[in-house]
Amino acid sequence: MTLPIVTLKPGKEQSLNRFHPWVFSGAIKHISQELEEGELVTVVSNKDEFLAIGHFQIGSIAVRILSFEELPVDNVFWENKLASAIQLRRDLGLLGSEQTNVFRLVHGEGDGLPGLIIDFYNGTAVYQAHSVGMYHVRHQLAKLLKKLLGDQLIAVYDKSDKTLPYKADISPENGYLLGESAPCVVKEYGLSFQVDWIQGQKTGFFIDQRENRKLVEQFSAERDVLNMFCYSGGFSFFAMQGGAKTVHSVDASAKAIELTRQNVALNFVDDKRHEAFVADAFDFMRDIKDRYNLIILDPPAFAKHRGALRQALQAYKRLNAKAFEQVRPGGIIFTFSCSQVVTKDQFREAVFSGAAISKRKVRILHQLHQPADHPINIYHPEGEYLKGLVLQVD
Ligand code: SAH
Repeated sequence: MTLPIVTLKPGKEQSLNRFHPWVFSGAIKHISQELEEGELVTVVSNKDEFLAIGHFQIGSIAVRILSFEELPVDNVFWENKLASAIQLRRDLGLLGSEQTNVFRLVHGEGDGLPGLIIDFYNGTAVYQAHSVGMYHVRHQLAKLLKKLLGDQLIAVYDKSDKTLPYKADISPENGYLLGESAPCVVKEYGLSFQVDWIQGQKTGFFIDQRENRKLVEQFSAERDVLNMFCYSGGFSFFAMQGGAKTVHSVDASAKAIELTRQNVALNFVDDKRHEAFVADAFDFMRDIKDRYNLIILDPPAFAKHRGALRQALQAYKRLNAKAFEQVRPGGIIFTFSCSQVVTKDQFREAVFSGAAISKRKVRILHQLHQPADHPINIYHPEGEYLKGLVLQVD
């Protein structure tokens, strides 16, 4: 089958020659025919040389590349891609583990599948398309997942209604693509979490903080801990497991706090060390002088697009300054940014500015990032979105 052809302007093939998986609309000289969003296209240079195959999309990213080789994007193609994503999670010891049965199975560009996220919750795969092309193949990919995972897969749930480009002329409805399952309890390093992929934020759980939550355990003995932006309480339970004296979980969402309370009951029944509060971060942190000596700050993405970058950096600075000013001497701060448009250096600079406001002595103990089941395609540095620092404040 010959695909519609997208011809680039002279010189615009360079980023594809370096395997960057996006074609921006400004790089396009000509399109051979009228295209529907989500269609497969062949991308060629101004000299008609083959460059890549990808999904066409309306917007600033015009093509998301699936292959730099001239091969059919058919069932075998998708099966190979999924098989290699699955193999990586096996190699990482995640698929089949009793201790941890929640992980990311497909991480977009990091797995050569731009526009697609699949998270795995103890047998239920939650499919989230960020492009129309990936939405169109959802039934086909769900079947292939079943073929590849067999009994390890109970159901596939599609949750793309909020992640598809809003201009796309389709009205997606969330629902099961295959099988059926109910909200369930998953395990992360042996701790239990109630997960509801239907009602919950994102696909149900912030899987990307797994290794960083585990690290909190090491720093928690005898500490008074504030877990700010707690969502379902993850960091709090690792702190409790690590021997924290008290743990306060705070989130602006009442639903999140409800979930946190359920999770306390699953892991540490009636444990008086834990308390949870519905509150805005900046309100709660107005006056917490010397109350905590371990503070975790894991805010939502302050910058969702480039236009919001400056304001976001200010917000990171202010938030971190509040923690630096008030943490007890000898305290530890875990601080994060999950904004894709904020680079590691920009985040560090914002935290640095926050520290300078407090005039305290601060040392970096660890530099944190997303875990291996959220791999970064080396040719797509934009995929490195989660960054964090563990800081000691004298
Ligand atoms: N640390 C969590 C994930 C945090 S996601 C984990 O390990 O699972 C970010 C959370 O911040 C969301 O739960 C959201 O409800 C909360 N949030 C957003 N704005 C907030 C604000 N201004 N104050 C407090 N919480 C906020």
